[in-house]
Amino acid sequence: MSYNIDTKGYYGKFGGAYIPEMLLHNITELKENYQRIINEKSFQLKFNELLKNYVGRPSPLYFSRKLSDKYSTKIYLKREDLNHTGSHKINNTIGQILLAKKLKKSRIIAETGAGQHGVATATVCALMGLKCIVYMGAKDIKRQAPNVARMKMLGADVISVKSGSSTLKDATNEAMRDWINNPVNTHYIVGSVVGPHPFPDMVARFQSIISKEIKKQLMVIEGRDYPDYIIACVGGGSNAAGTFYEYLDDERVNIICVEASGKGVSSGQSAATTKLGKIGIIHGSKTLLMQTEDGQISEPYSISAGLDYPGIGPIHANLFETKRAEFIAIDDDEAMTAGLQLSQLEGIIPAIETSHALAIFENKRFNKDDIIVLNLSGRGDKDLENYIKYFGIK
Ligand SMILES: *Cc1c(COP(=O)(O)O)cnc(C)c1O
Repeated sequence: MSYNIDTKGYYGKFGGAYIPEMLLHNITELKENYQRIINEKSFQLKFNELLKNYVGRPSPLYFSRKLSDKYSTKIYLKREDLNHTGSHKINNTIGQILLAKKLKKSRIIAETGAGQHGVATATVCALMGLKCIVYMGAKDIKRQAPNVARMKMLGADVISVKSGSSTLKDATNEAMRDWINNPVNTHYIVGSVVGPHPFPDMVARFQSIISKEIKKQLMVIEGRDYPDYIIACVGGGSNAAGTFYEYLDDERVNIICVEASGKGVSSGQSAATTKLGKIGIIHGSKTLLMQTEDGQISEPYSISAGLDYPGIGPIHANLFETKRAEFIAIDDDEAMTAGLQLSQLEGIIPAIETSHALAIFENKRFNKDDIIVLNLSGRGDKDLENYIKYFGIK
């Protein structure tokens, strides 16, 4: 048995493509072409060249002496925060823009919550000279002003979505609506391992560069290519999928997913999907999602806009269901404290999303000689104002 995708587009019982008939053409076109295109030699050459010279890969695997001493174990940080545009998101947008070019698309649409995926999409559209339209909830446009400005500077149109709760899930609905209306010339760059098949698999493959590099880097530093534990935060789950990808079926490696419990799992203001969610369908995929008794999607909450999503990708729903991965929920306060600690211990200000993963060391004990790799998914520049307000730093 494998924890990776099967030939029908499922991870165990999760995944698939539950789409309105109007999207069938687009999804079928992608499904029939993505693997062939991605595996072409010319595609791989171009993808790897851009990852190297444009994104700045490989990202370092940094041994954190200070965290290791403090928690009496061996902690490595995979530095996705050092990528161009400040997070792992760019790995996926580079892959998808190359795919869109191969499919002869001239117009790109995307959804964004915190704006990191919007910025990464606007960036590759500028690079490749394609038109870019980013859908973003009106509420998120207000709370993520610096990223809105970045997208506009890069030449993208940012469209304010005022339906529903005016956040990420509503922006996603609006992007899907656009795609239905523009099926021929448009590619939709989905920002995480969510959405109908083949998006979760496609995004996971593009992000798998993270674990491919970890293998090589650990081999050089530790003389073996696998860690004992691998840890990442999970919003939709793309940085986690990339970090775990090469180790999914290697049972020597323990997988830990960190979710955001917001103000507490039972507070009514949470995004801890595996604790609160049930099986259902969101944005074209069968997965775990937070829902009301009659099956309407619940409003999630987290201090971090990137983890503020009511579902998780089908790959993670399966890792949870099969107990292949351990899921831990971290609340706002624990995350913020861990973010401040890394800033002042190591001189690295992490994104608040990543801070959730970092808080694990206060919640779980590891052995002295365990080798742990934690994916530092992004940098905290976009979150500075939040940190400063939260801690009352003057
Ligand atoms: C978007 C984002 C996340 C959450 O998205 P995933 O798809 O779960 O990775 C986590 N960290 C950072 C820095 C992000 O920008």
